[in-house]
Amino acid sequence: MALAEAAGLAVDNGVLVDATLRTSDPFVYAVGDVANHDHPVLRRRVRVEHWDTAIEQAKVAAQNLLGAEERYERLPYFFTDQYDLGMEYVGYAAADADTSVVISGDPSCGSWRAYWVSGGVVAAGMHVNEWGAIDEIREQIGHPLT
Ligand SMILES: Cc1cc2nc3c(=O)[nH]c(=O)nc-3n(C[C@H](O)[C@H](O)[C@H](O)COP(=O)(O)OP(=O)(O)OC[C@H]3O[C@@H](n4cnc5c(N)ncnc54)[C@H](O)[C@@H]3O)c2cc1C
Repeated sequence: MALAEAAGLAVDNGVLVDATLRTSDPFVYAVGDVANHDHPVLRRRVRVEHWDTAIEQAKVAAQNLLGAEERYERLPYFFTDQYDLGMEYVGYAAADADTSVVISGDPSCGSWRAYWVSGGVVAAGMHVNEWGAIDEIREQIGHPLT
């Protein structure tokens, strides 16, 4: 952050980037943990501290450095292992939104899903120990929970 500020880039909870990951300097792009991104699908700024975002944003920024005007539209995603629980999460459940959590399955069985529902549609979803489920969960984002 100090480096970005010293370079004169606009910063506010990270380095501010537009939908194409361009900073306030048209010749500088920022990705990953440091980038506070104007997400075109979520329609809000998000700064995501997960591997997937750092990897996928870098691909889009590289294209744009070469002259493309690609927007970064991928939803936030992470995986993590916590002892005997492996989980993947996709979407964005805003802390300031009126969101309810719906559990699918029985957590005591060790394999289940959680959906964050806001405004009647799925904002985010997560599975625990249900590998292979994340694509199906991803497709449910933005739709009513069935
Ligand atoms: C303990 C821990 C566990 C995590 N577990 C998960 C997980 O399970 N799943 C997941 O998705 N994500 C996880 N993360 C988050 C993930 O590691 C980060 O989102 C990812 O590494 C971000 O990549 P990045 O390239 O944006 O930043 P970084 O990986 O932090 O890379 C930034 C690099 O810039 C260097 N740097 C900083 N300042 C300067 C400077 N002035 N000059 C030169 N170099 C500089 C740093 O040394 C660093 O090497 C975890 C993070 C931590 C700390």
